[in-house]
Amino acid sequence: MNGRLLGKEGREFALKALDLMDQFGVAPTPENYSVWVCFASDTNPELCETLKNHIESGGDFSETVNNELFEQYFQWKAIQDAILESGGVMCRELGAVQETLEAAERDTAAYGKALEGASHELTATPDAPGMKKLVESLVSATARMQRRSQALEDRLQATSNEVTQLRTNLEKVREEAMTDALTGIANRKRFDESLRRARRDADTKKQPLSLILCDIDFFKRFNDTWGHQTGDQIIRFVAGCLTRHAGENHLVARYGGEEFGIVMPNTAPNVAEQVAEKIRKTVESKKLLRKSTNEDLGNITVSLGIATYHEGESIEELIERSDTNLYRSKTEGRNRTTVDNSRAPSRSAA
Ligand code: GH3
Ligand code: MG
Ligand code: MG
Repeated sequence: MNGRLLGKEGREFALKALDLMDQFGVAPTPENYSVWVCFASDTNPELCETLKNHIESGGDFSETVNNELFEQYFQWKAIQDAILESGGVMCRELGAVQETLEAAERDTAAYGKALEGASHELTATPDAPGMKKLVESLVSATARMQRRSQALEDRLQATSNEVTQLRTNLEKVREEAMTDALTGIANRKRFDESLRRARRDADTKKQPLSLILCDIDFFKRFNDTWGHQTGDQIIRFVAGCLTRHAGENHLVARYGGEEFGIVMPNTAPNVAEQVAEKIRKTVESKKLLRKSTNEDLGNITVSLGIATYHEGESIEELIERSDTNLYRSKTEGRNRTTVDNSRAPSRSAA
């Protein structure tokens, strides 16, 4: 019965997906299954390309990698659906408001006519019964108008509530889309957005903008020794250290797997260096314990690279310079901070 429901082709894709998941040690969660069925059935070229490259480069399928794949290819779809759904609700609401407004307009016109008729009749010397009839018709026309106004008010109130709810929902979805699931700090998307905005501000306000990039040292070895789950615990710990030491107006983001970035508007390189050094020392001095068993995991270290924005350079160039300094920290022994003290080419001439 199930076999017939699924169809021969569908069954093959399902089995192939489960086979592949088994082969690559991917946990059989509904999210992972969505990703791998899509791969097995070759229905999303982008997803297939990403997975193929990851497999070919010998990449592993840690919980984080799996979550990122699901987020990238399925959560965005959910977000788009949420936005489309919101659009639909808004259209229905606005249609209802328009109908109520049109009805109110018709009633207002009718009310105007009733008043006009009454004023004609009043000029034509009314007798007592005529007067009574006139007043009664005015009272009932006024009551109809009142009911219509009330209905319109209720309708507008309901719409306003609906719009508030939609805005809250969209804001929540947007927030989730900009947050890294493992650490709760900003993700790459928000990092890019924040850096673009900071660069614009640096240009207009003529203030220094510094960027710290931070990478965990020998993290592959740590993972190999202690497992990915414990590795994830370390990524969360480092994210916490960065957040604690960064200033209020600085944006801390998970830039990649075990790499982080801090966007520091209005911050000179020497101040960025002080922050980086605080982070480095905090990480270095923390005795790490495995959460589940309290096992001693020893210590880990991070390397950092800093660059300060040169007016006119692109975001990519700024990241590249920070990354070059991070690389220097790595090659010169790790567990250190390298600051770029070079001046902007245009400024050095001044
Ligand atoms: P280096 O000091 O040169 O940075 O060495 P490294 O071993 O840290 O550098 P490399 O880039 O070779 O390895 C990074 C490792 O980080 C490989 C990958 O498995 C691991 N990693 C990336 N993302 C995650 C994650 O989300 N969770 C866990 N546990 N590991 C991750
Ligand atoms: Mg790295
Ligand atoms: Mg590393």
